[in-house]
Amino acid sequence: MMLVLSSPSGAGKTTLSKRLIMHHPDVVLSVSATTRAARPGELDGEDYFFVSHEAFEKRIAEGGFFEHAKVFDQYYGTPIAPVEEALTEGRDVVFDIDWQGAQQLAEKAPRDVVRVFILPPSMKLLEDRLRKRGQDSEDIINGRMARAEAEVSHWEEYDYVIVNEDFSGALEELELILRAERLRRTRRPWLRGFVDELMSERD
Ligand code: 5GP
Repeated sequence: MMLVLSSPSGAGKTTLSKRLIMHHPDVVLSVSATTRAARPGELDGEDYFFVSHEAFEKRIAEGGFFEHAKVFDQYYGTPIAPVEEALTEGRDVVFDIDWQGAQQLAEKAPRDVVRVFILPPSMKLLEDRLRKRGQDSEDIINGRMARAEAEVSHWEEYDYVIVNEDFSGALEELELILRAERLRRTRRPWLRGFVDELMSERD
């Protein structure tokens, strides 16, 4: 399963996805590449792979991304290799990407992708959270709020929507989505053999 999480910045998506993989060691988080600068505390290879514009464009040309998009004039993209490796090992992968990336992944792997949109309880709260980060200038915050509204306008393209009113409730809902989606018939190919055996029991 490819579990895609999108939300406007500040709605808690990154914390939710990190906590989800802490609780589920069988789920891996896709680490994106980006051309934006690292924020204080962010680690290369853990939060993102921080790369130059040149390196990013070279990788696009080589077909090294599952999807990529420009967000706030910076490139963001999902490297293919680790995702394919995890899926081949039978592990589910979580993606913290924007609506453009969600659309591209859904087109490429419609049967594997489950899309979840995280909404903040209010736009005011979102702005407060962005301010509390204290890392961005007023101009950047205004730009991010405009961008947040643009992101929210895509909410109907998602299979599930979580309103992140309180963190533990939102996490519980996300875990329920993971559990239910894992029970889908199409994700349990062993069922066919099981049913064949059931049917042959009376032969
Ligand atoms: P930030 O710079 O705040 O970490 O992320 C900005 C936005 O870029 C967020 O909405 C985040 O989900 C999105 N993003 C991060 N990585 C990727 C990626 O690999 N692809 C796409 N399409 N968006 C991404």
